[in-house]
Amino acid sequence: MTSQSSSSVRVRYAPSPTGYLHVGGARTLLFNYLYAKKYGGILVLRIEDTDQARSTREHEKMILSDVQRLGLNYQEGPDAGGSVGPYRQSERLSIYAQRARELFDRDQAYYCFCSDSLLTQKRELAMKLGKSPHYDGTCARISKDEALKRLKAGEKAGLRFRAYQKDMVLQDEVRGRVEFKAGSVGDFLITRTPSSGEEEIAEGIGMPVYNFCCVIDDNAMGMTHIIRGEDHLSNTARQLMIYEAFGWKTPVFAHTAMVLGSDRQKLSKRNGDTSVFEYLDSGYMPEALLNFLVLLGWWPPNDFKPSSGHPEILSVDELAQCFNLDGLQKAPAVFDVQKLQWMNGQYIKHLPLDEIVKRAKPFFVKAGIEVDKYPADWFAQVVDLYRVEVSLLKDLPKAAALFFDASVTLETAAQDWLKSEKSQPIPGLISGFLESSSASLTADDVATMQKMVAEKAGVKGKELFMPVRALTTGMAHGPELKKVLPLLGRDRVLRHVQEIRRQAGV
Ligand code: GLU
Repeated sequence: MTSQSSSSVRVRYAPSPTGYLHVGGARTLLFNYLYAKKYGGILVLRIEDTDQARSTREHEKMILSDVQRLGLNYQEGPDAGGSVGPYRQSERLSIYAQRARELFDRDQAYYCFCSDSLLTQKRELAMKLGKSPHYDGTCARISKDEALKRLKAGEKAGLRFRAYQKDMVLQDEVRGRVEFKAGSVGDFLITRTPSSGEEEIAEGIGMPVYNFCCVIDDNAMGMTHIIRGEDHLSNTARQLMIYEAFGWKTPVFAHTAMVLGSDRQKLSKRNGDTSVFEYLDSGYMPEALLNFLVLLGWWPPNDFKPSSGHPEILSVDELAQCFNLDGLQKAPAVFDVQKLQWMNGQYIKHLPLDEIVKRAKPFFVKAGIEVDKYPADWFAQVVDLYRVEVSLLKDLPKAAALFFDASVTLETAAQDWLKSEKSQPIPGLISGFLESSSASLTADDVATMQKMVAEKAGVKGKELFMPVRALTTGMAHGPELKKVLPLLGRDRVLRHVQEIRRQAGV
């Protein structure tokens, strides 16, 4: 495995702006972010938008904003600047044209005039005959002069790379030695035929395609490590050939394992592949999402002890300390939404209270609760009481509804406790106590009330606590009553008791 100790590390995240930032992309970004951070290196964000038909500026904006919400800052990028820009491939077309021309001049690439429909026909025929679907080489034999003449006459063409007919070997940091056998790659396009309107920007050389732009940029931008999904492994054979054609040093490659849904099928909308903003908007916190994502196909070193005391709960700073390529796993990772929820719950419980209060507020406002009407300290105490009960911030307003709703709801499970024979004297005892107690209701008052009920009604344990809880909160579960009731205050508790007695007929 490669170890890196200097500050020369340069890595990149290279999204195509054809959709929102999804969890798979965020995971790739995170791995790169952590690697750069660990070695004091540079993270570049490059927008791969040569597929103009599918790329939009709107998506680029969304992706960049989600990256920012995750807190994964990059040092170079379209909006961050840097010395090896521009960082949008659509703004680098002349660079690709120049490099493609170089390959044509050296006869390492040739113009291919075959139309898409002809290529499809040829591929289908080859497959039918049990032959490889590689390009059959029709245009490989056209002389340079002839090709240039045909172009001048208005024919359209892309440039095809003469693939090396030899084994290509990749020493991958995750997959080990990967051999691409001679003949497994046919001549491939490095630029495609320009569509109408693209001729001008194609500079007579065609519109550059992903495999080509990627290598030109990774080289020009000085990338030392390429950490990306295993779905790009098959592209690497072509990319290695381009590096070789230019005589460039190849970066270190690490192809990370696939992520499967909990049904072990390819990750899709149905089994967890939601966009990052949907997760964030529904109350998942960046810290939890990142912590969860990093463990999809990566494992911290055994001797690393996170400050949380839990082997799977690591802060981004801790991750940056211990992240290494050795921890990347070969086996596919499984995206388990339940685990993400659990992890989010851990962060809700353990992040500093003021942080949770700040993040919870918008969810209360969305639920129609005018948070600013309440004393800040009181509101923080309510959040603190209920944060242990939820694993999503969006569930907090409902969990704490007791404190904000005009009326109280009596749950069936709570009602059942009020119906039992032994509970009969309790409602009257509680009403009496509250009516004569002082306006503030302290934890000691609650203890006194429970003691009084225990003695006078002759109940203890669950038979005491459950009916008292049911009467004062309408619920069968919740935080400790000696915390809940003082926060609610005597008047509100008394109103609850009256309303619940009416609803339950007790
Ligand atoms: N633009 C490619 C993608 O979004 C990235 C390819 C790469 O990382 O080399 O999948």
